[in-house]
Amino acid sequence: MVYDDSNIFARILRDEIPADKVYEDEHVLAFHDVAHLTPVHVLVVPKGRYADMTAFTKEASPAEAAAVFAAIKAIVDQHDIAEGGYRVVSNCGEHGGQEVPHLHFHVMGGRQLGGMRRSS
Ligand code: AMP
Repeated sequence: MVYDDSNIFARILRDEIPADKVYEDEHVLAFHDVAHLTPVHVLVVPKGRYADMTAFTKEASPAEAAAVFAAIKAIVDQHDIAEGGYRVVSNCGEHGGQEVPHLHFHVMGGRQLGGMRRSS
């Protein structure tokens, strides 16, 4: 996927539009999903120009990859969801149902999410 600088998360990263931020470091910004599906629904967004998981796994540095996991840990701790459990998802491309073409990880918890079900 070709990276498009006009996507909404690129605009949030440039501070052109607001977001409800919960975590930030050199490589990552995290903020609440505007249309949360669960009581805790935070998006972890790498700051680099990565359209999706495929680009990130090809091009990201070890420090950028480590920062994603550090951010997930920080969000889990902040929202106290380790004990109850949670889900981390990154939708990639058309088959993955990705809507915003800037890599992001959904961190979702705060209620029973159920199992992953087979879908057609
Ligand atoms: P995906 O389908 O994986 O690309 O997920 C995109 C997510 O971005 C959806 O859950 C949206 O609710 C969320 N979203 C879209 N615009 C914003 C925004 N301005 N601030 C926070 N979350 C957003």
